[in-house]
Amino acid sequence: MVDYDLKKRYQIFLHTFQRELDRMFNEQKEFIMCKEGCSYCCEKGEYPFSELEFNYLLDEYKTLDNETKFKILENVARVNEAKSKFNGEQFMYDCPFLVNHRCSVYQNRGLICRTFGLLVEHDDDRLTMPFCQDLGLNYSKVYDNEIGQIVIEKDGNSLCETMPKAYRIAREHVLKLSIAKNLDIDWGASKTLIDMINESNMAEL
Ligand code: SF4
Ligand code: SF4
Repeated sequence: MVDYDLKKRYQIFLHTFQRELDRMFNEQKEFIMCKEGCSYCCEKGEYPFSELEFNYLLDEYKTLDNETKFKILENVARVNEAKSKFNGEQFMYDCPFLVNHRCSVYQNRGLICRTFGLLVEHDDDRLTMPFCQDLGLNYSKVYDNEIGQIVIEKDGNSLCETMPKAYRIAREHVLKLSIAKNLDIDWGASKTLIDMINESNMAEL
């Protein structure tokens, strides 16, 4: 049964969370190269989703035209074929909702999708660079791949005007934010996006 009240509370959560993320992206704009049509962050990942996030994403999927839905289902089939031949530990894939380098469910995308591109600080103080730093994109101007560290100065010259900043926006942290607790958000079980899709009735929507 659809819990409309939970969806409403999730929308309130998203509104606040997205506002915070917008502030972070703005604070870090010197290091952010994100622009329309850049979609590397949606082309290789596991994309963990909770049931709540996935059901919300499906609400937007249902409104898409048949042609777009067909393309997404073709993408799903392609990912599943690759998955069936995969023997390793961590299966990474193109997100099936990526169509022509654009997210087809952008308004209702998941939490992980919203945090792509920022520098993440984990509870054990470890930092994770956005993977696209390696592609010469976000934070690449202050990250030295040879020593695996952020470098803000080279040969006596400053490499940046503002300090790069990391945020506690790892998924495990976000799910436990106090606003989620205050809103009594029940996330449900989390799985990879492709598993969520495969266990849903998406093809019939
Ligand atoms: S996070 Fe990286 S890959 Fe994704 S849109 Fe931004 S710059 Fe491009
Ligand atoms: S749902 Fe959209 S934003 Fe998220 S990984 Fe897929 S294409 Fe990217």
